[in-house]
Amino acid sequence: MSVFAEEARIAERVVAWQARHGRNHLPWQQTRDPYRVWLSEIMLQQTQVSTVLDYYARFLARFPDVTALANAPQDEVMGLWSGLGYYSRARNLHRCAQQVVAEHGGAFPRTAEVLATLPGIGRSTAGAIAAFCFSERVPILDANVRRVLTRLLGFDKDMASAANERLLWGLAESLLPSQDLGYAMPRYTQGLMDLGASICTPRAPRCSACPVMESCQALKDGDAERYPVRTRKLTRRAESWHLAIVRDERGRVWLQRRPPTGIWAGMHCVPVFSDDAACAAFVAGLGDPSQRVLEELPPFVHVLTHRDLHLHPVLISGDVGGGALGEGEWLGQDQWPSVGLPAPIRKLLDATQARLW
Ligand code: SF4
Repeated sequence: MSVFAEEARIAERVVAWQARHGRNHLPWQQTRDPYRVWLSEIMLQQTQVSTVLDYYARFLARFPDVTALANAPQDEVMGLWSGLGYYSRARNLHRCAQQVVAEHGGAFPRTAEVLATLPGIGRSTAGAIAAFCFSERVPILDANVRRVLTRLLGFDKDMASAANERLLWGLAESLLPSQDLGYAMPRYTQGLMDLGASICTPRAPRCSACPVMESCQALKDGDAERYPVRTRKLTRRAESWHLAIVRDERGRVWLQRRPPTGIWAGMHCVPVFSDDAACAAFVAGLGDPSQRVLEELPPFVHVLTHRDLHLHPVLISGDVGGGALGEGEWLGQDQWPSVGLPAPIRKLLDATQARLW
């Protein structure tokens, strides 16, 4: 069989397998509206489908179209995103909606090339939106698809190299369907995603159920788990954060907006200090020392992609002065859902209200 015929058969098999065995009933698969597809693609980055379902429904109920999202206050967008993590996605989501409205008249661009110029839309997400909504013949290469393709092709070059990454994009392009694109492109794109999620898993792939097993180089070599090859490892760092939860006599908590870049950028948070002494100096300036109560809460670790945050919370209540404590504002529990609070801070505040420690 010629190489081209082999490639065509791979695409055909993925398309046919997706129609029979893939995921076809998720809410964002019932539409070709790029606003909805884009929203789901951004939410699905680094987040499980089961978690995204609720958030997706809530977002659409509140922001039914891109104009509604663009016009919303940033705090409200962050508030609705709270708990999904990776908050830069929410900030970019909002900026992207504003750019679609301001520069594209409220209609998403119809090609992957232009979609990829928008905030938060990388090449793979742009490819997915263009394939799903406009049947454009463009590849995607998210983590799942990268795993499937490197195994299928026996592509053992180091994916830490940008040149090798480009090479794989080229190969991914050569495998795309070439006929009946209106039907084939959405199915093929979804099929590769589904294969990576359910069959060609990082550990113990279920090759006997795989539609491309006859063509798979890694299966022939018996070493699927070695792919994708990546030599450079993520370096993790540990950091200690001392959190001052200042609660006034009305139960309100002093919250500050985090800086525009870095961890939890732009979200609301209790005051953060890098060491115990700085936290103690802040606490010393609060109200009348004889009338306030200071409690050290159990420390815990919050794991981020590149960092472990060791969080050391203290709760200061009673007479805490009540006035402004620098930048920030007093917010009661009923206001917390409407501002963006990082999930661990939200949990911590809820626990302090209920005294669950
Ligand atoms: Fe992945 Fe196995 Fe299919 Fe190859 S045959 S693509 S290793 S599931």
